[in-house]
Amino acid sequence: MQRNKLLFATALTILLTLGFVATSVIGYFVAEDSLQKQVAEETLPLTSDNIFSEIERDLLRSILISSLMAHDTFVREWVVEGEEDKEAIIRYLAEIQQKYDTTTAFFVSDASRHYYHPDGILKTVSPADPADKWYFRVRQINEPFEINIDHDTADPTRLSIFVNYRVQDESGEFIGVTGIGLAVETVAGLIESYQRRYARSIYFMDREGEITLRGSGYHGPTSIQAQPGLASHATRILTSPSTDFAYERPGDGTVYVNTRLIPELDWFLVVEQRESAANTQLLNTLIVNILLALGVTALVLMIGGWTLRGYQRRLEAMATTDRLTGAANREALEVLFGQAQRLARRHDRPLSIINLDIDHFKTINDRHGHQAGDSVLRDLVETVSAQIREADTLCRWGGDEFLILLPDADAEHARQTAERIRDAVARHNRLPANEESLTVSQGVAQYRPDESLDNVINRADQALYEAKRSGRDRVAVAA
Ligand code: GH3
Ligand code: MG
Repeated sequence: MQRNKLLFATALTILLTLGFVATSVIGYFVAEDSLQKQVAEETLPLTSDNIFSEIERDLLRSILISSLMAHDTFVREWVVEGEEDKEAIIRYLAEIQQKYDTTTAFFVSDASRHYYHPDGILKTVSPADPADKWYFRVRQINEPFEINIDHDTADPTRLSIFVNYRVQDESGEFIGVTGIGLAVETVAGLIESYQRRYARSIYFMDREGEITLRGSGYHGPTSIQAQPGLASHATRILTSPSTDFAYERPGDGTVYVNTRLIPELDWFLVVEQRESAANTQLLNTLIVNILLALGVTALVLMIGGWTLRGYQRRLEAMATTDRLTGAANREALEVLFGQAQRLARRHDRPLSIINLDIDHFKTINDRHGHQAGDSVLRDLVETVSAQIREADTLCRWGGDEFLILLPDADAEHARQTAERIRDAVARHNRLPANEESLTVSQGVAQYRPDESLDNVINRADQALYEAKRSGRDRVAVAA
């Protein structure tokens, strides 16, 4: 029994744990899969879109300011009139720089080749100077402006995004280039804020794959060709306007990547996210799930144990009691008789039994029905139980026949008990429809040392037969 219980508990634990863990793990993988999709298809492109549109906004504003300068009648007239008051244009540029909070504002005159700046005339541009190549390029272009990333003439250590706007006179003749510069740091600040907010690595690279601009979170090499895992994707990235893919980075696991070309800068914007960062939360959920599952398993086992114990008790009770009356059954009496017999022998104490049978019970059944008969049996058990001691046992032997086991009682004690029962039944147990009183006949026998249960029952039975024969509703004692 104990072994079976242990086996059942073990099987239940294994089944429940397996079931719960399987659901948790499957749930984890499904969530991981959808998370990967979400990162690759939504999150990264969205970040890229946001950064892109913020850069576009800054650039658009710069283009607008530069266009304003290029079309300013003051600038045009000042050039056409021979660039006489140098201070006037310097003041003008300083005002622009201050008003729009740009890092630089400039004007290069085609006639004098002077590079005007809020600090004064910085230099005279020349086709021989590689740093001035941009000017001679803008001179040739058909579009009204170009955007260029270059070292600032005013501060060569600083990288700036320049809007170079062509200036033409009334008749459309090219007379110079004007515009403003934006510190690359502005874009770098943007990268930082995104990096902090979303734990993503963001950087820019040029057409050759060289990293041009990166946030502090970027710790990789200075060119994507040097990044293991990414190098094999380099050609694809550098030839497509946008890409989405994942690659394995040593030490970091899977990394999701989104790239897009920013045509104005001729740079690629790269947004990366490590899978492990996104997965930590999922993993935590998995651990919590498994802990919960273990808790539930323990709870189920506990409740199961209680329920089983309850059922076991009921089964045990059912195995030893008579279903109809609740009195002990034959099996119980045999066990109890064995115990009482041993005690009687050991302590040399008397032991008696009463055999009780309802008089004319068949007639009661015939007249009032089987159910009425059943309730007569139940009522009788109640009455008899009230007349016997705690140590005595009332047992339904079969049909309308009962055996009462009376430890520590001799024949006389048993006879008196039988008489009390007879009296109580006559007083309390009325037949259905209150016709008349129920009567019982009883045979009493005192146990003889070394006698078997069958034998003592037999003698009590004979006494009962005697009681029936001599008119019923009486007690007879076996010889
Ligand atoms: P006697 O005085 O000689 O004992 O007459 P009796 O009618 O009681 O005769 P007997 O003891 O032979 O009859 C027992 C009857 O009890 C027969 C049977 O139908 C009925 N009986 C046995 N078990 C049950 C039971 O569980 N419920 C009911 N209602 N009747 C039962
Ligand atoms: Mg009877």
